[in-house]
Amino acid sequence: MFNLILFGPPGAGKGTQAVKIADKFGWKHVSTGDILRAEVSQGTPLGLKVKSVMEAGHLVSDDLLIEIMESVFVGNKHVNGFVLDGFPRTLNQAQELDRMLLKHNRKVNLVLALKVDEKELVTRLLIRAQEQGRKDDTEEVIKNRLVQYHHHTQPLIDYYQEKGLFKEVKGVGGIDEIFTSLSREIETWK
Ligand code: AMP
Repeated sequence: MFNLILFGPPGAGKGTQAVKIADKFGWKHVSTGDILRAEVSQGTPLGLKVKSVMEAGHLVSDDLLIEIMESVFVGNKHVNGFVLDGFPRTLNQAQELDRMLLKHNRKVNLVLALKVDEKELVTRLLIRAQEQGRKDDTEEVIKNRLVQYHHHTQPLIDYYQEKGLFKEVKGVGGIDEIFTSLSREIETWK
């Protein structure tokens, strides 16, 4: 059983890499953003509750996220591992994650963060915004999203660094090249 957390700023290709890792190692990819978006599009009670919060780009409450993750763990008791993508996002979520995993005799084994130069990220996100016709994604908005990411992620990095579980990986280059670096890190830790 291996539990991997993947961090990465918007535009770093975290989702793509998470899917590839889960596929290669036979683990379950859990994207809380995907789970929440599915709830919203199905119009479930949970979806209705979180719709406006998500649309505003704010974080959904820790309680709801923890509830979601509890049911993910309960519903996937026999998987070999998890790749967590988008969770935890707050210190409280990280502590609750430890508690939940401990209950199942598990722990976080490794935290990998994709490191991409800020200027490179802004360029990538601007190109993506242009391709998708998202005129609202201006340089200023993009920069703000990156500031938000660092603001929320830094305490989590400190938390996992203290536990000796944190490792940064170069997130610049081709998808396969980055995937090779991530795989190498996982294999050395496994
Ligand atoms: P993402 O696709 O990971 O960027 O998530 C999309 C949106 O879902 C976020 O902007 C939040 O509103 C919500 N969300 C996803 N994961 C979390 C989390 N761990 N804690 C709080 N909100 C979350």
